Amino acid sequence: MPKRTCPFPEAFSTQYKIHIGQREINNYGVFGNKYRQEIYGVPAVPTGCCVCHKNQGSRTPCSQCDRLACASCTRQCSSCCSLCCSVCSIIDYSGPYDEVLCCSCST
Ligand SMILES: [Zn+2]
Ligand SMILES: [Zn+2]
Ligand SMILES: [Zn+2]
Repeated sequence: MPKRTCPFPEAFSTQYKIHIGQREINNYGVFGNKYRQEIYGVPAVPTGCCVCHKNQGSRTPCSQCDRLACASCTRQCSSCCSLCCSVCSIIDYSGPYDEVLCCSCST
C-alpha cells in the first residue's frame, strides 16, 4: 500500500504548486498595480493605532474616520456617545467639566 499511495501526494503537490503559481501571476500581473497601491499606499492602517502608531492592545474603529485607534487614543463624544480617535475629537474646556466632542458634533 505505501508504494501505491506514494505517487498521489506527489501529483497533488505538483498541482498545488501550479495552482499557487497561477494565483501569483494573477495577483502581480492583471491586478498588480491595484495590489501594489493597496500594500504601499496605506502602511499604518491595518495594524497600528492611527494616532500613536503603537501596535499593542485592542483598537477601536473611529466613528468619524474609520481608522483604528488604541484605547488611550479613543475618546467618546459626550454629545452623540460615538467613539472616535483623538484626531477626530476636540475637548471643550469652556464648561464646568471637560467635554469631549467629535468633529461632527463640534461644528
Ligand atoms: Zn494610540
Ligand atoms: Zn478618527
Ligand atoms: Zn458626537
